[in-house]
Amino acid sequence: MAAFQLPLPVLFYDGRAMRFEIVTIFPEFFDGPFRHGVLSRALETRIVEIGLHDLRAFTHDRHKTVDDRPFGGGEGMVLKAQPIFDAVEGLGIAEKNHRDLKRESVVLLSAQGERFTQKAAQELASLEHVVLICGRYEGVDERVNNLLCDREHSIGDYVLSGGELGAAVIVDAVTRLLPGVLGNADSARFESFGQADASLPSLDEGLPRSMHGSGGLLDYPHYTRPAEFRGVAVPDVLAGGDHAAIRRWRRERQLEKTLRNRPDLLRDAELTKEDREFLESLKTQG
Ligand code: SAM
Repeated sequence: MAAFQLPLPVLFYDGRAMRFEIVTIFPEFFDGPFRHGVLSRALETRIVEIGLHDLRAFTHDRHKTVDDRPFGGGEGMVLKAQPIFDAVEGLGIAEKNHRDLKRESVVLLSAQGERFTQKAAQELASLEHVVLICGRYEGVDERVNNLLCDREHSIGDYVLSGGELGAAVIVDAVTRLLPGVLGNADSARFESFGQADASLPSLDEGLPRSMHGSGGLLDYPHYTRPAEFRGVAVPDVLAGGDHAAIRRWRRERQLEKTLRNRPDLLRDAELTKEDREFLESLKTQG
């Protein structure tokens, strides 16, 4: 069992740590993704811990065999159940039938899984211990899914060659939601797929981000200096200092972008009467 090693363990976070365990045939794959930016800081401050577990260490033959041919014939090889069970059962996770799903979860990365969304990231961020099982080849013996895992997640409608990229995506998306990880806790609310405020703040209140939390919409466009770049100027409203106008502009751009790129999100988004009227006006403009 290899724990992820960091050169500088700095301890100044006094909250709970969340722990991920990644079961993989390529533990060294994760050297890159976890060593940069937000994730590496979360590891340094011990807000999150990651255990990497090399599946081959749980085999019992001298060739360290993790795969075998599929029953019924067909292409490729399938990851065997036994090394995965042995790896997970040594991690202090309860058996599936006795698992406290408010505290821990065992997730299979799979193209056939339920789509991993921001909502799923929020659910996982409320847990203490999450195991991520990375498939390879044609996939994983289905008894792993049936008997060991309580979630099966896909990170999108395409087929990857292994679950490692998916595991890194999940660790990243979940970690940035943990208290103390982002410098500004509100960042995770005022971004794409973020939650709406319980009640709309007054238009004069606080920083001019949007009319309220994103409420499941895509984020609004961002600009920084210079005010003009290659002949394109930053929208006047953003330089004008009128906070209510900036909020309104941002909300309208969120609605516009979501309608254009992800109209499916509008179905469940939290929309005001003004939002709906604005969307209708966009649709009639064509
Ligand atoms: N035969 C499988 C199928 O058609 O669904 C694809 C197996 S894929 C080549 C090998 C492994 O990559 C899977 O077991 C899974 O762990 C991972 N994988 C592939 N696509 C994925 C996706 N969209 N999301 C998460 N994991 C994926």
